[in-house]
Amino acid sequence: MDQNLSRIVAQDKNFLNIINGRRVAALSQETITVLCPSDGLPFATIPAGTAEDVDSAVRAARDAFEHGPWSRMPAFERGRLLTRLGQLVEEHGDELAALESRDTGKPVRQGKADVVATARYYEFYGGAADKIHGDTIPFLDGFTALTLREPHGVVAGIIPWNYPMQIMARVVGAALAMGNTLVIKPAEDASLSAIRIGELAIEAGFPDGVLNVITGYGREAGAALSSHPGINYVTFTGSPVTGTAIQQAAATNNRGVTMELGGKSPQIVFADADVEKALPVLVNAIIQNGGQTCSAGSRILIERPIYNDVAAALGERFSKLIAAPHDMDLDLGPMVNPAQKRKVENFITSAAESGIEVVARGSIHVDAPVDGYYVAPVLFGAVDPASVLAQEEVFGPVLSLFAFDDEADAIKLANGTEYGLVAGIWTRDGARQHRVAKKVRAGQVFVNAYGAGGGVELPFGGFKKSGHGREKGFEALFDMSATKTVVFRHD
Ligand code: ADP
Repeated sequence: MDQNLSRIVAQDKNFLNIINGRRVAALSQETITVLCPSDGLPFATIPAGTAEDVDSAVRAARDAFEHGPWSRMPAFERGRLLTRLGQLVEEHGDELAALESRDTGKPVRQGKADVVATARYYEFYGGAADKIHGDTIPFLDGFTALTLREPHGVVAGIIPWNYPMQIMARVVGAALAMGNTLVIKPAEDASLSAIRIGELAIEAGFPDGVLNVITGYGREAGAALSSHPGINYVTFTGSPVTGTAIQQAAATNNRGVTMELGGKSPQIVFADADVEKALPVLVNAIIQNGGQTCSAGSRILIERPIYNDVAAALGERFSKLIAAPHDMDLDLGPMVNPAQKRKVENFITSAAESGIEVVARGSIHVDAPVDGYYVAPVLFGAVDPASVLAQEEVFGPVLSLFAFDDEADAIKLANGTEYGLVAGIWTRDGARQHRVAKKVRAGQVFVNAYGAGGGVELPFGGFKKSGHGREKGFEALFDMSATKTVVFRHD
């Protein structure tokens, strides 16, 4: 990291929660130490919020929803505030990128890309706030029927550690555009950008209590938030196991949920594909963010006649990949925490021990601190579609190759996991592009391209174990609101 950015990050080591427009410590005064994944060293603290802090944040959000200026504010003014927040994100772009990189270990250029997407979310939803409206419905003679779109009330947003700033932005943008108020619970491993954005929201002029940020452990603060009776709707991005726990907690109060729960996303490479164009995209789709990406393209399905050539070309690229500290800005950074490093290493060891072919391995930079959480990327070939490696989300820099015989075989393999988040199709055949896009069970399908990141306008979410509900784009505004039908009789 350059000197300037280091200094900006170092200025504020003790981060505080944002409740009712004020920066506050946890009521217990307890904190969680923030470690940098690149060297394992502490550099900040965040509050260890518990149920009592959650309760105070939910009350603030409820009060702002029921009684504050927010409840009377026209949609275009809510939109202006979101747009202003987007501008502030841009103005503080270097600081936010440095903070996010240091907190998560991601290369600085990824932190910068996250800032660009974050600002875009706030701009997009700022512009969308006054462009969503209900319908009039042809009904009985003597009646007029119409629909209004109303906010749920207080929304809880439980955010993961992989793209904290972006994922918070898609939640905050859509929820606030529709007039909800929010309590955001970022992940204990990556809360700093959420707190900074909460501070910038105060600067942007959001009324007190509209956007509250409360940090703490998932099992304490997260569990207290998802089961709180004062919450009207819960949106979550993270692992399926935690998603189930959150849905069960929300169900105790019969609250609605949006769940984005990861994937095992395939990219299908047909023999007629432009392979040169595909190769860098195939590699990037698993290496970006060290593979800790819900939409990572973790399975490559290759038509048999070109399998050996594509495997060799990918192998050549993989062997050159280098994991390094975030501020060296190389191919990938470390994993976010020691547990994630161990989990990914266990996948790699068991797959190799079970006899799956290792086509290529990348490396860890010689100057990477030994206490950082680095994993060298691995490319596995001829993977058995029934194996654990083929079926489970690794969430690390591990790519699996499979050979297929024809289109039907490719579709069967692509749909052959419990997940259904994203898919890529590489072929020059236009009719096949359409056929396969329809048959692949995934919330987003890319043809001769890949990459869910940054497409703020594009609805995103999963089928099957990957979740339900849709985020991003206009679709998210429907999840973040409910339809009210009003019927007038005038005969
Ligand atoms: P990981 O297992 O890699 O930590 P999770 O999906 O569990 O990822 O975490 C995503 C988010 O969910 C984090 O903000 C975390 O604090 C939160 N979380 C974890 N467990 C729970 C829980 N039982 N209830 C509510 N939130 C939780």
